[in-house]
Amino acid sequence: MFHVKHCAIHSIKQRWNHAMPSPERLVILDRDGVINQDSDSYVKSLDEWLPYPSAIEAIARLCRAGWSVAVATNQSGIARGYFDIDTLDAMHRVLMRLVNQAGGQIDHIAYCPHGPDDGCKCRKPLPGLLEEIRDTLGLETLKGSWMVGDSLRDLQAGEPMGCHGALVKTGKGEKTLAKGVGLDNAVIFDDLSAFVDWLLAGGQSST
Ligand SMILES: [Mg+2]
Ligand SMILES: [Zn+2]
Repeated sequence: MFHVKHCAIHSIKQRWNHAMPSPERLVILDRDGVINQDSDSYVKSLDEWLPYPSAIEAIARLCRAGWSVAVATNQSGIARGYFDIDTLDAMHRVLMRLVNQAGGQIDHIAYCPHGPDDGCKCRKPLPGLLEEIRDTLGLETLKGSWMVGDSLRDLQAGEPMGCHGALVKTGKGEKTLAKGVGLDNAVIFDDLSAFVDWLLAGGQSST
């Protein structure tokens, strides 16, 4: 009980100094391979959800600099029966808590629980998760926002929404880079922390 109460108070405090989201100051992150270690056999339990400490810190740095952060994640392991929504929620509660403890917040986590053959509109590369983030944050558009991922489909989901794309080499990123397809407009970084360094130093206007 104490624990839950503590988190609630903490998140209210966070919100007090939190800027209103704007598309030009929003970073949308893929989860697996960007925030936490990816696994070819799916991240199926809380024990298997292994965050990159530098990514948690990078999210908090973005928030402290006045950026908003959201997450868009395909989780077809749910449709495949490898884990359930409660387990996914548990992972996301820990993620939110770690980011809060580092001095940041994640405004929304949008996930697709469907499989590739379910015909849904949210599984990346489709843009449904980004539309959900746009609407949840009360934004008119995501034009000028950043979409950061380790797979081509992350960047493809952002393109029709007018997002800039950044590829990180963590997770499947090296493989995505080796394929060399569809990355003409993407900026490429070793990891999320390196992207945030660049963005907070002025991003495209600094190069
Ligand atoms: Mg990924
Ligand atoms: Zn879906």
